[in-house]
Amino acid sequence: MPSLDTKIETLGGVYKRFSRPLEKLGIVRLEDLLYHIPSRYEDFSIISKIGDLQPGEVVTIRGKVLSINNRYARRGFTIQKAKVEDDSGTIELVWFNQPYIAKNLAEGDEISVSGKVEAKPKLQITNPDYELSGSEFIHTGRLVPVYPETRGISSKWLRKEIYKLLKNDLSEIADFIPEKILSEYKLLPINQSLRTIHFPDNIDEIFQAKHRLSFNELFLLQLSSNLRRREWEKELSGSAFDLKSNKEKIDKFIKSLPFKLTTAQTRSTDEILKDLTSDKPMNRLLEGDVGSGKTVVAAAAAYLAYLNGFQSVFMAPTEILAQQHYKTLSAFLSPFGVSIGIQTGSRKTEEKADLLVGTHAVLNVDFQKLGFLVIDEQQRFGVEQRSIMRKKGKNPHVLTMTATPIPRTVALAMYGDLDLSVLDEMPIGRKEIKTWLVPSFKREGAYEWIKTQIDQNKSQVFIVCPFIEESENATTVKAATKEFERLQNNVFKKYRLALLHGKLKSKDKERVLNEFKEGKFDILVATPVVEVGIDVPNADIILIEGAERFGLSQLHQLRGRVGRNDRQAYCLLFSEAPNPQTSQRLKYMEQTNIGSELAEFDLKMRGPGQIYGTLQHGRKFLKVADFSDFELIQQTKEAAMKVINEVNKYPLLLKKTNELSSSYVSPD
Ligand code: ADP
Ligand code: MG
Repeated sequence: MPSLDTKIETLGGVYKRFSRPLEKLGIVRLEDLLYHIPSRYEDFSIISKIGDLQPGEVVTIRGKVLSINNRYARRGFTIQKAKVEDDSGTIELVWFNQPYIAKNLAEGDEISVSGKVEAKPKLQITNPDYELSGSEFIHTGRLVPVYPETRGISSKWLRKEIYKLLKNDLSEIADFIPEKILSEYKLLPINQSLRTIHFPDNIDEIFQAKHRLSFNELFLLQLSSNLRRREWEKELSGSAFDLKSNKEKIDKFIKSLPFKLTTAQTRSTDEILKDLTSDKPMNRLLEGDVGSGKTVVAAAAAYLAYLNGFQSVFMAPTEILAQQHYKTLSAFLSPFGVSIGIQTGSRKTEEKADLLVGTHAVLNVDFQKLGFLVIDEQQRFGVEQRSIMRKKGKNPHVLTMTATPIPRTVALAMYGDLDLSVLDEMPIGRKEIKTWLVPSFKREGAYEWIKTQIDQNKSQVFIVCPFIEESENATTVKAATKEFERLQNNVFKKYRLALLHGKLKSKDKERVLNEFKEGKFDILVATPVVEVGIDVPNADIILIEGAERFGLSQLHQLRGRVGRNDRQAYCLLFSEAPNPQTSQRLKYMEQTNIGSELAEFDLKMRGPGQIYGTLQHGRKFLKVADFSDFELIQQTKEAAMKVINEVNKYPLLLKKTNELSSSYVSPD
């Protein structure tokens, strides 16, 4: 057998031919085949006599082929039929469009057949799996693995190849988990786990094997992120980054605010300030639902950096947001002597500001004394930006902020190198935003209701058009423009409407938004650029078109644009083509105003990769492990800490960890 490290494309024959589609499945080296984990199993373990078969049963039968033929039914459509007999009776097997079966099977062959028995009206099995008797059974008569497939690569093929590989002496698959961890946590040997995960004898075995393989994944993740954390701390130790605390001035700043901090804000601020004043570099995630008040927490930290003579940078994902943060932070901090600058693609002030707000354009700036970096909206920024800063030789304290509620387990698993602060409390006085999924026959009624709200309460309204394609492109802009015209000319003739989309010049965007804030418009028709962070306190209603195209967390973010005053706020969801599943999803928006619950629901419905953009790095390493397995995540963390000081004693472990770590670095 070639080494498991061998690249598949360097092997001859079928392998070479299939190397492209295999790569699509993430299978590049032979070993990857072994780690191609079944997505499920067919239970074909019940072996029956043909004479005993009942309709509806999923079974395996074994017998002799009496006849086999291939028939052209109509153009491009063939049917294959076989008759099989055992000592209790006969049954017909039927396949469609698989003419090669008629070549592969011959009268007199002894075969094993698995599938579901149907009465049509005579008993038959349609599209059964089969294999010749004589060698070991792998496709029938047992728990049969079903794999993630791609065009040209079937489960049957994978099963056969993986089986062949597993037949070999697998001592080459050295266990990278140190012996002492294996025995302490009572883990199965890796070889055995791999054999079992592909060809289990019973269901219980699958759980044990999964446990072992999940342990591998999470342990590696924990170890590598904690090693990164150490490295990051070591690089910075001794640097002048430990700031002096200044309780008096910070308290004064907090007292100056027009509101009282929530307990969660106070706690998070304390955690962050403590990090800044310790000699370790901060690497913290501040997680808080839309409107929970993250900005002011970051402002307090930036103030401390300023008091210590350090510059801060505040990075926002969009230009509009950068503008807004620039204003907010100026209002908070300039009374305290902090000079604030802004740098975006189209606008630039003094670079020597104490606090520079901007988009990723700030990454081009050379700083004199950068001490503190805030990255707002984690899902768009993250690890990459940090590593860019590091490459430039800057090692500031880093605070990443997100409104995407990452369940604690996920954060622990994926970001072992991050500390976590959570704003799990909203400022008092916030009301729940009433949310309705509006059926299309009520559309006109909804428009009338909106008019009344504008007339009676001077409410302002967002109308959000969907992304037509994946991102904000010409098609999306055109659709929004058309909708704007339709609404202005037909529906809301007497009202003042404005249009906001991503293709507007930055100055125009800012102007439109400011005029909307000042009340010069009643309704702002917008593409989803309003998604993150925009603050228009007088807006009470948000109407979202094509709601089915958004994730729940996104919808929740959008909804957070309203309800920033003490009036009742509303969110109206419209969906073009609701099917039962999307309706169920959208209905969930009516039921809860809690971001973390929506995120968990989304996590279940759509899987983590969809939701946690930057988390995707870790995704291909988590084939087996389950994010919600809190216990195992804790266990592997504990286990990783037991070896972290002696990784050098385990070359293989070190190699694996480095492989994982290097995949985190951005390819820029
Ligand atoms: P987010 O966490 O979504 O970024 P912001 O920082 O934009 O939230 O805060 C939302 C709004 O709530 C802002 O107008 C902010 O001034 C206000 N705010 C923040 N903290 C409090 C508080 N403790 N009490 C009342 N309002 C607050
Ligand atoms: Mg914000």
